Amino acid sequence: MTQSGNIRNFIHGEWQDAAASEHLPVMNPATGEELGRVPLSTAAEVDKAVQAAAKALPEWRRVPVGTRIQYLFQLKTLLEENFEDISRTVTIECGKTLAESRGEMRRAIENVEVACGTPVLIQGYNSEDIAAGIDEIMIRQPVGVCAIIVPFNFPAMIPFWFLPYALACGNTVVLKPSERVPLTMQKVFALIEKLRLPPGVVNLVNGGRDVVNAILDHPTIRAVSFVGSSAVASYVYGRAAAAGKRAQCAGGAKNPVVVLPDADLLATSEIVADSAFGCAGQRCLAASWAITVGAAGKPFSEAIREKASSRVTGYGLDEASQMGPVITAESRTRIESLIGKAIAEGGRAVVDGRNATIPSFEKGSFLRPTILEGLPPGSDVMRTEIFGPVLAVHHVENIDDAIALVNSGDYGNMACLFTTNGASARKFRYEAEVGNIGINVGVAAPMAFFPFSGARKSFFGDLHGQGRDAIEFFTQKKVVVERWPKQWARKF
Ligand code: NAD
Repeated sequence: MTQSGNIRNFIHGEWQDAAASEHLPVMNPATGEELGRVPLSTAAEVDKAVQAAAKALPEWRRVPVGTRIQYLFQLKTLLEENFEDISRTVTIECGKTLAESRGEMRRAIENVEVACGTPVLIQGYNSEDIAAGIDEIMIRQPVGVCAIIVPFNFPAMIPFWFLPYALACGNTVVLKPSERVPLTMQKVFALIEKLRLPPGVVNLVNGGRDVVNAILDHPTIRAVSFVGSSAVASYVYGRAAAAGKRAQCAGGAKNPVVVLPDADLLATSEIVADSAFGCAGQRCLAASWAITVGAAGKPFSEAIREKASSRVTGYGLDEASQMGPVITAESRTRIESLIGKAIAEGGRAVVDGRNATIPSFEKGSFLRPTILEGLPPGSDVMRTEIFGPVLAVHHVENIDDAIALVNSGDYGNMACLFTTNGASARKFRYEAEVGNIGINVGVAAPMAFFPFSGARKSFFGDLHGQGRDAIEFFTQKKVVVERWPKQWARKF
């Protein structure tokens, strides 16, 4: 960051002031304090970063994979050494509690660790004598210059779903953080600078939609990894694919959790509250819809109301806080108006978190947890991703009706079931049409060595990063057929 508080780009191994004429303020959502100003970089700056990445590519892809991952081992050490500092930055610009930021950092580092396995993961395969004297070989090569575009809600973790794998596979990278939370990547890139990677291997361009469009239209970029809302994910996927780029685009969600009468209802209400209100509900794996079955209805409803009412909302840096603010005042207004709309559509706010004020943080964008009941499943609000601390509760009579509801939504990111019955769990796993399933788990977030999945409006593309799937995405397969008749072998 410059002395005037302007956030910088990192291009060709150097920090650079963006030539942008427009800047946006970056705010602390809890205090309302301005933390810096982010440039809305232009297509010319994207081009500069892409040229740097393209120039670095031939040398970088020739660096042996075992050497490439040495940079990642070093990066892991630097991330561990700066763990608290980066976690605090996440909290300051994104609002979540420090414990949540630390959890996010742990997941970021976990991806670096898994990418250190690339020497094994990147191996191809071969068959000898597919016909007499003919062998067939599959090798993996880097895709080329890869772009990464990320959302606001996990400023430290989501770039690492892609970055370490892209680099370990021999690609070069242009990364665009969310313009709402650019400070975390300023810290991370200060560590990346210390790695002394060849200039241009990793580049950072700050900005908004113009940067995204310039990435999508740039002929040199071969692959785009995107995470954000479904409308933008679908747009990015369409435009990238039309330009012949490889694309993995993760979108929004509206995640149901189903509670059966045989579940441990006290533990379930605690887990569901953590899922719905953790990160102030701004998680693509947040529970936003609880479906109770049969006799689970009344006791679950009572227990979850109590959990929602007793959750401590406050500044994320205060260790006593269990929930921080939402990202902006506009976001709070939007969430409050959706709660109002839910009431107009026939729902009841049995716990109403609107108009929250937190003493000493009157300028913060706080809401308290909200529970909606009685909202018709087909209503507008039930089809909308609220992305705030709001849980709707529905009641049905049997598991088939619950699964039908799960499958009726537009999104397919996650669904969870709470039960002590194995057969019900298996039925749910078998029939729920979503990418990530939880059984007695509220946030079914895959570890870095499993892919992050998603269905329907929650994912556009074929492969979704992390682990082996990331290696698949960030490499181009080449199949080689070789004929070597034995009479050609020389006798020395
Ligand atoms: P967003 O879609 O507003 O922004 C994501 C990125 O796209 C940002 O970098 C932004 O600058 C850019 N962008 C925004 N509008 C654009 C436009 N019109 N044209 C081109 N680029 C544009 O998302 P957000 O509000 O930052 O993040 C929250 C969303 O991300 C939620 O919908 C959440 O569910 C989703 N999300 C999904 C996952 C997942 O794995 N499925 C993970 C985290 C977040």
